[in-house]
Amino acid sequence: MKKILLYIFLFTYTTIMFKPLLPYITDTVAHIFWYSSHISTVHYENGQYHVHIESGKISKECSGKK
Ligand SMILES: [Zn+2]
Repeated sequence: MKKILLYIFLFTYTTIMFKPLLPYITDTVAHIFWYSSHISTVHYENGQYHVHIESGKISKECSGKK
């Protein structure tokens, strides 16, 4: 039981610590595995620099600015 709580805490901690990197990781995975659908949906709607926009939103959330 203690190990499960430890794993949940470790997963939560790493998710919070790597939250600013998540747009880059998800974009890399999308470009590798779902390239055509990613290009035809996300890049079509948000442009070539969609990761920059998502990263900017997360940095504003983390800093508390609006
Ligand atoms: Zn992309």
